[in-house]
Amino acid sequence: MVVDREKLIQIISEKSIMERVHQIADDISNQYKSEVPILIGILNGSFIFASDLVRAMKIDCEIDFIKVSSYSGTKSKGTVHLKKDISADITDRHVIIVEDIIDSGLTIRFIRERLLDAQPKSVSIVTLLMKPELVEIDFDVNWVGFEIPPHYVVGYGLDYDQKFRNLRGIFRLGGK
Ligand code: 5GP
Repeated sequence: MVVDREKLIQIISEKSIMERVHQIADDISNQYKSEVPILIGILNGSFIFASDLVRAMKIDCEIDFIKVSSYSGTKSKGTVHLKKDISADITDRHVIIVEDIIDSGLTIRFIRERLLDAQPKSVSIVTLLMKPELVEIDFDVNWVGFEIPPHYVVGYGLDYDQKFRNLRGIFRLGGK
């Protein structure tokens, strides 16, 4: 399916995203006041959220990335594959996983379990978007930017077949 930029429907504006990112960054900064947490961004989708989030934080932090694949087009393939592991040693560290969107929860479960194997001091999760109607997880998501209906969305890092990551708001694909 070819998707035209003109057919996208904005559901969250750039301004709303930035306000929420700053609120979450303040909250994280207060919670980890005397610590240096390490944020682990999940590539590719979270690269813009992670960069805005770290710049809005008022404490020192480190950042690293992990890359997995589970989606093709708008469909989950049902299994998660590791494509790039983290480089940092997270043993005994406070880790914050930075996700773009939690849909079924498969990706975040896989990454959380993988990072817990390295025995960090703590693991928290921040996601910009969550589709609560679909998610099936048995652990806390500590910060959720926005809960959204179960539509496929693009923009602010999120793609449709690698396009639209550079849009500043969040959009759903046109049509039904
Ligand atoms: P889950 O494993 O929770 O089903 O899906 C999480 C991953 O699937 C996200 O990191 C993202 O890469 C992709 N994903 C899930 N829903 C969407 C969506 O609506 N739009 C885009 N662009 N990616 C999505």
